[in-house]
Amino acid sequence: MRYSQLMLPTLKEDPAEAEVISHKLMFRAGMIRKLAAGIYSYLPLGLRVIRKVEEIVREEMNRAGAQEVLLPCVQPAELWMETHRWEEYGKDLLRFKDRHSRDCCFGPTHEEVITDIARREIRSYRQMPLNLYQIQTKFRDEIRPRFGLMRGREFIMKDAYSFDTDEAGLEKSYHKMYEAYERIFKRCGLTFTAVEAETGLIGGSASHEFMVMAETGEEIIVSCQSCDYTANVQKAEAKRTRLRARGSEKTLKPLKKMETPDMKTVETVTQFLKVRPQDLVKTLIFETDQGVVATLIRGDHEINESKLEKLLGCGEVKLASDDVVYEATGAPKGFAGPIGLSVKIIADYSVESMVDFVTGANEEDAHYVNVNLGRDVKVDQFADLRMIKEGDRCPRCGKSLSFSRGIEVGHIFKLGTKYSKTLKATYLDENGREREIVMGCYGIGVGRTAAAAIEQYHDEDGIIWPMPIAPFQVIVVPVNNKSEPLMETAEGIYRLLSGSGVEVLLDERDSTPGVKFKDADLIGIPLRITVGEKNLKRGLVEIRRRKNGETIVIGKGNTTETVLALINEEMEASLRA
Ligand SMILES: [Zn+2]
Repeated sequence: MRYSQLMLPTLKEDPAEAEVISHKLMFRAGMIRKLAAGIYSYLPLGLRVIRKVEEIVREEMNRAGAQEVLLPCVQPAELWMETHRWEEYGKDLLRFKDRHSRDCCFGPTHEEVITDIARREIRSYRQMPLNLYQIQTKFRDEIRPRFGLMRGREFIMKDAYSFDTDEAGLEKSYHKMYEAYERIFKRCGLTFTAVEAETGLIGGSASHEFMVMAETGEEIIVSCQSCDYTANVQKAEAKRTRLRARGSEKTLKPLKKMETPDMKTVETVTQFLKVRPQDLVKTLIFETDQGVVATLIRGDHEINESKLEKLLGCGEVKLASDDVVYEATGAPKGFAGPIGLSVKIIADYSVESMVDFVTGANEEDAHYVNVNLGRDVKVDQFADLRMIKEGDRCPRCGKSLSFSRGIEVGHIFKLGTKYSKTLKATYLDENGREREIVMGCYGIGVGRTAAAAIEQYHDEDGIIWPMPIAPFQVIVVPVNNKSEPLMETAEGIYRLLSGSGVEVLLDERDSTPGVKFKDADLIGIPLRITVGEKNLKRGLVEIRRRKNGETIVIGKGNTTETVLALINEEMEASLRA
């Protein structure tokens, strides 16, 4: 490809709204342009990267025995009503009516459609295992789309769905996908980790997220220093601390009410009472599908709402409004406490071993001190409700947990019979008995993978593409367009490389070498061949690696074989990583 013929509108300035590196660089490198909030056009350079990621995904899905299909993006509401997700999915589901006033949605995911195919086409156990996948555009009407392709509303995704006769079959299918995902992200040249994750709106029994490691990542990954425990922070379990001997009733101090005028925070109350935050129990009131629930947690910890949702088995919990808090406790926010509450009380494990602690008094401007479980407070249930903190103990081995950041690029779920049950997707087993199909689903954000690669590999000059997903592998830069021998050599190298199957861009623009070098760095082409006058007089050209700035000078006649060797080396390095 010739630079002058390529639509590659590079820019010097970051777009004002771009908050993250990948968004800035994709925009500046002329890869994408915004049409509307969270909706982007892919320009030629961007699409080349997308296609490369897709191709790696496709090859590995096929290798794992999955078959490619293409499902409609417009879906009828009836299907979504059958699974109740028409109501449950909320505003992220883009809904509209067709000309006959029939409700439709633009698919944010395809469990309904694929399960509908399964219930029509799968009759017998002999037709499974089966795995179907597609690479397709999806739409989720995110409330705050941002970060470019990282959190767009419209996005390209690979989604696969496995169908098995039983749990053991699902286990095998899931494992195959897990391994395929490892190969995919390795082949893309990315550093990643697989973590245990929550199943969320998709539902199901187990799931893993594949995270590309990047300091700029939105997700916090919890990992153990000494065993292989890794989880996302939403899922990460707290180790239940052993119960301390709580002391007999006699040694407990008497309950006492204290005046705490206008003190509504852990900080102000503990400072005033001269106790530590870990001597106070916070009472947080939540509104849930099951009514109002009070949760108790140590003053220096935070409630993990997704753990509470899972425990209660409900869709969404939210911190109660001022009115609801007042109604439940008889006091404004900041003074809630467990004593005398008539709603369900769930306490975090961290509260179990506490004695003589501080709580709100369910009365404006008052707290209790020397509160004790049993004597003063009746807890309905103890559970793991807290958000893990860096340095907490590993739930498996007890050693210290550390935090790192990542970007979720893939997510795999064991769905079980969640969708086959509601949509009645059944098959006949060996004995002619009707049974529900056991399913798994497996997603990869294609655009997000490209964006994550930029978050992982960039410097102040621009993108540093890993060789396997680079839009071009090589850029040839003649430094002076007026010099005929120089242009001839560059053209010759370009033709030879193209002929050898190398993806090469020839920068024959009439620009200064400075401009050409800057653009080459910005768009992140892994190898740059500079054809300059000084070197050429001695029959030499220079090859520079984008990833480390390393340069070598070689005889121009050896260019093709050297370039091929360097490309192979970088492609293989990504597989070994
Ligand atoms: Zn551990």
